[in-house]
Amino acid sequence: MKTQELIHETETYSAANYHPLPIVLAKGEGIWVWDVEGKKYMDCLSAYSALNQGHRHPKIMKTLIDQAGRVTLTSRAFHNDQMGALLKKLCLMSGMDMALPMNTGAEAVETAIKTARKWGYKVKGVPNDKAEIIVCANNFHGRTVTIVTCSTEHQYRDGFGPFTPGFKVVEFGDASELEKAITPNTVAFLVEPIQGEAGILMPPEGYLTKAREICTKNRVLFIADEIQTGLGRTGKLFAYEHEKNAKPDMLIIGKALGGGVYPVSAVVSSKEVLGVFKPGDHGSTFGGNPLGSAVARTALEVIVDEKLVENSRELGNYLLNQLRGIPSKHVQEVRGRGLFIGVEIKQSSGKARPFCERLMAEGLLAKETHDQVIRLAPPLTIKREDIDWIVERMKKILA
Ligand SMILES: *Cc1c(COP(=O)(O)O)cnc(C)c1O
Repeated sequence: MKTQELIHETETYSAANYHPLPIVLAKGEGIWVWDVEGKKYMDCLSAYSALNQGHRHPKIMKTLIDQAGRVTLTSRAFHNDQMGALLKKLCLMSGMDMALPMNTGAEAVETAIKTARKWGYKVKGVPNDKAEIIVCANNFHGRTVTIVTCSTEHQYRDGFGPFTPGFKVVEFGDASELEKAITPNTVAFLVEPIQGEAGILMPPEGYLTKAREICTKNRVLFIADEIQTGLGRTGKLFAYEHEKNAKPDMLIIGKALGGGVYPVSAVVSSKEVLGVFKPGDHGSTFGGNPLGSAVARTALEVIVDEKLVENSRELGNYLLNQLRGIPSKHVQEVRGRGLFIGVEIKQSSGKARPFCERLMAEGLLAKETHDQVIRLAPPLTIKREDIDWIVERMKKILA
């Protein structure tokens, strides 16, 4: 009853830009959430990987409350005593020189695009307003007008034009197409190391290494959008590390950087690249605020201290093997890396959503992505016995 009333209230007053599963959550702790009726579920979506550290991680909550008791927002018109330490940690962990803090993922992608263009004009010497950025088909980089310009998803663009010029689309995974698309005016290649929203699509082995090589040869910035794949999700700190010599010029980080409590994102890069910014070029009122900075630093500490990257790698392999062992006539393919796993349902078995609804009835929350794929991405704090719990439920709904 309560559930229906709350859904009715929400649907009455909310723009209908989402189609959530019919469940109303009221509490979360670790890998578990509870609905308003008191029913317990395992969270295998983790807010699209923004909850890698789990719900309300005690250390992150302590930092949030402590920092809230001191100062929360200063604006960048003044320095604060938290931002520097976060950016230093981010640079040390990623092997980069400098960072530019923002709030949401889309803002960080916008920041990366602006950075690449400015670098193109000021450093590479591209003629004014001629910069081109290459993106991949089926990408997901966010929802602003400029970013949906890059999308190949009809619905993401429909009704939102006119769009931003200066983008070219190539096939994901095809390095020779990338090479052919480059012109003297190309400033950057923007790519997700694994395409998450597209259905956990992995490029062929060696693609990122080749893309890196091609970018270096042509003086094009190689930008990795690791908003979803980063911070341990795929069993490495960053997904580009699965390949040799694939370090990007610019990393875009978000989601789990905020520890599941506060939106924090950043662009991390070299002095040469982020050095193009002068005071007044770019900014954000909330970007780099002390509350978000303190939370994000603790969110990073938790990933390192609790060995969440290693846990993701080990338990991800285990889960992948267990899922592949399930006999089912509905499964097309099980793929993924670390705890970033897609179970693709055969077209002949219908769409993935009814499978997700059955999982929900079994106490497991997962969301379909791109019609055919069940995405399993639990918090990286998950334990082996919880993985067995997932496998039991997957067995039941796939039988
Ligand atoms: C979620 C996501 C974004 C956008 O982040 P928001 O915080 O929703 O704006 C961008 N790129 C990738 C790869 C994402 O998964």
